[in-house]
Amino acid sequence: MKAVIINAPGDYGVYEVEKPSCPDGGMLVKVLAVGLCGGDLRTLRMGHHRVKLPFIVGHEVSGEVIELGKGYDERWQTGDKLAIAPVVYCGKCDFCQNGMFELCNNYKELAQSWQGGFAEYMAIPQEALQRGTIQQIPEGVSPVHATIVEPLSSVVNAHEKGNIGLGDTVVIIGAGPIGTFHLELSKARGAKIVIVADIDENRLELMKSYNPDFLINSSKTDLVEKVREITKGYGADVVITANPVPETQIQAVEMAKKGGRVLLFGGLPKDKSRPGIDMNLVHYNALQLIGTTIFAPKHNRIAMDLVASGKVSAEKFISHVMPLTDFVEGTKLALEGKARKVVFVP
Ligand SMILES: [Zn+2]
Ligand SMILES: [Zn+2]
Repeated sequence: MKAVIINAPGDYGVYEVEKPSCPDGGMLVKVLAVGLCGGDLRTLRMGHHRVKLPFIVGHEVSGEVIELGKGYDERWQTGDKLAIAPVVYCGKCDFCQNGMFELCNNYKELAQSWQGGFAEYMAIPQEALQRGTIQQIPEGVSPVHATIVEPLSSVVNAHEKGNIGLGDTVVIIGAGPIGTFHLELSKARGAKIVIVADIDENRLELMKSYNPDFLINSSKTDLVEKVREITKGYGADVVITANPVPETQIQAVEMAKKGGRVLLFGGLPKDKSRPGIDMNLVHYNALQLIGTTIFAPKHNRIAMDLVASGKVSAEKFISHVMPLTDFVEGTKLALEGKARKVVFVP
């Protein structure tokens, strides 16, 4: 089969390799579509501490079941089309036992502990079928569109934790692809005003079709001041940092309304993870700083519903659909910022 092999950091390409065998109790899927995400780009260029090279990554996978392993006893059958998100929980730790799967102490991921989906075929182990994030793609959702369910799931989790709802004024700092999810979800949950900020004019331009109430170029405008102005001095109920820039977390705290919530969605670079937030603002304004990470199976299911109902538009989110043989070209487009979301079809 054809697969994308990372030989060493920065050295990757499409190769002819042996098709994986079907694992006992698991299944073999034919990959129908697989999304390229920022995490993949990082691993392709710099490797990953949980990935032993040479390796196949790719974790936003839609696949069709073509073979069931020895002793298979799970829900799905040959011919089923599945959305395969990578997270596999242990089911045994305190967090799993309390239903907080995203905090599992021993979670593993497909495309890290097992070979991933930038390939024609992918083996799915039994534990991923039992304690993972795999679901049937509903009628009417294309396998290409279903690949966005994985990145959307983390956003669903964040909005649940931030309890975004009716009447809220929401600021989203970061107009990247994930920022569009935050905007669509804020609207779907009933937010009154949604303000989107970024320092990049191109990203802001692309955001226009999502109809935010305000678009702010924070390289030209004082964002904190502008948000205070829009909210008549009160500040925003919810501020979401959907970017990796430490200064935006400082700003988020400064523009939140008293009693407001700051959702720290984007992680920061390791050496810049202490941004210098004025904690007295957090204290005296009674703010909630809310960290969120990955997702649980329920968020994954809700994300699929959002795509199926069109509340989140997969069509708009995906900018490029390319054959897997054009993988290297696709990654170049993404790295140069010429493609927002690339999905490969083997
Ligand atoms: Zn991803
Ligand atoms: Zn666990």
